[in-house]
Amino acid sequence: MAAEPAAAAPQTLVPASPAPATLEIRGLTKEYRRGTPVLRGISLAFPDRGITAVIGPSGTGKSTLIRCINRLVEPTAGAILFHGADMARLSGRALREHRRRIGMVFQEYNLVERLTVMENVLSGRLGYLSSWQAFLRRYPPQDIAMAWELLDTVGLTQYANRRADALSGGQRQRVGIARAVMQQPDILLADEPTSSLDPKTSVEIMELLAGITDTRHIPVIVNIHNVPLAKRFASHVIGMAGGAIVYNGPPGGLTDDHLNQIYGGEDWQE
Ligand code: ADP
Repeated sequence: MAAEPAAAAPQTLVPASPAPATLEIRGLTKEYRRGTPVLRGISLAFPDRGITAVIGPSGTGKSTLIRCINRLVEPTAGAILFHGADMARLSGRALREHRRRIGMVFQEYNLVERLTVMENVLSGRLGYLSSWQAFLRRYPPQDIAMAWELLDTVGLTQYANRRADALSGGQRQRVGIARAVMQQPDILLADEPTSSLDPKTSVEIMELLAGITDTRHIPVIVNIHNVPLAKRFASHVIGMAGGAIVYNGPPGGLTDDHLNQIYGGEDWQE
């Protein structure tokens, strides 16, 4: 007996709405001093993959933008939608739970210098431990296994038991990156991660970040003042000037006119 023909799927005229971006900001404003905005109502959806480079002259608000995202800096107004939840409105446990899914890499590494490399990397899990576990720094075996894996990824296995202050700048930044990835973040923020490093090490650190976005399928947002490095590694560029966005597109679309607009004649070629 022939099977009943399946009922035709109803035709839908309304296209399915696209999945919301992992991170979107709306009307983000920051004033450290009332009446003097550093960020002037910035709105944008960050790409869900690849490296997004935020470029612009010193003092234009790049670091403030990055730090508002995880609330290291309190925004004055606007929304920061991370997986649809407004980071600007969260507090207490909800803020902690969202924040631990946002990894952060710093210019000056922010390691605990007297602790070992392994202890620094493991500290990326602190947000997942109960308070007594955190107090005793008692990490479950799977965290320790993950830390060894990451030390291998960043090429520091043989340094696991060295104190952080015995390492070079590039090695410290690798520890900082491994610590951030230990959080199993859904997004990685990097605030001038190469500014304290020599050109060769800067390239190695950018390669490492590029590897992370590729293998872990998470977006990486890098505040970086080195335009050639940004163009080489980023799949998306946000150009800022005077606390506003003046370019938002692929690196290939960034012209000298854009760069002059962003840097206002200041030298951007390094
Ligand atoms: P960028 O990262 O582009 O160099 P920043 O976000 O660090 O820019 O700084 C933008 C502006 O905000 C600068 O004028 C800076 O002096 C000011 N600023 C940054 N942090 C603070 C702070 N904690 N208190 C007061 N002003 C600040």
